[in-house]
Amino acid sequence: MTLYKALTIAGSDSGGGAGIQADLKTFQMLDVFGTSAVTAVTAQNTLGVHGIYDIPLEGIERQIHAVLTDVGADAAKTGMLSQPQVIELVADCIAKAGLTRLVVDPVMVAKGGASLLAESARDALREKLLPLAAVVTPNLPEAEVITGLKLSSLDDMKKAAVVIVKEMGAGAAIVKGGHYEGAPTDVLYDGESFHLLSAERYETRHTHGTGCTFSAAVCAELAKGRTLLEAAHTAKKFITLAIRYELGIGGGHGPTNHWA
Ligand code: PLP
Repeated sequence: MTLYKALTIAGSDSGGGAGIQADLKTFQMLDVFGTSAVTAVTAQNTLGVHGIYDIPLEGIERQIHAVLTDVGADAAKTGMLSQPQVIELVADCIAKAGLTRLVVDPVMVAKGGASLLAESARDALREKLLPLAAVVTPNLPEAEVITGLKLSSLDDMKKAAVVIVKEMGAGAAIVKGGHYEGAPTDVLYDGESFHLLSAERYETRHTHGTGCTFSAAVCAELAKGRTLLEAAHTAKKFITLAIRYELGIGGGHGPTNHWA
């Protein structure tokens, strides 16, 4: 059996629902060996983010170097990168390593409102990281910040996806529609055509870590050599079940169910 490997470069969520914890659980469920480079540690539970502690740049670089020079990675993803210098460092490491199956989840703000990316880092995200991405997976508010467009329809989401690919240089974009009311339809644009990923909406407050989980599932499938379209469909199924079969953990926004 071939063993596939994926690296997540992201923040730690002590509550186990988002960040590297969500990524590693997702990799495991999709039969991919997971490794991690932690960019920041959050003190967090289902009620919110209670502290953020950035890892020094040298520590981030050494984690990535340690993983890539020994274990290796068939694909990688980025999550919470916190500061502009972290984005620059991570972009540099990825470019030097020649990692092409890169999923960029442009994490900006937690559902509870805590900022997970400094505003001053937004230019670095657009200029340094997006051009290296095989696919970028913004939710609606993130796509609005990245493109500067106001998004209120599927057509708007398509326009944002085109801007991210054609103007910002990403290989593909999946603009996620979970923040809309109604069916949570995502728009995938690969530079040539559009594909819609649809699912039924399930009403629940337990959606903490959905973005991390979805992008980790795309990353795991890319690691296995699946096409982006196959990876996106598998990830959509994975996240839909993870939301549908809620665990009900904690008194606030609980984690999705990676076992589902
Ligand atoms: N904490 C960390 C470390 C994350 O990477 C993320 C993900 O985006 C979050 C929290 C936010 O999770 P959510 O907005 O789904 O609650």
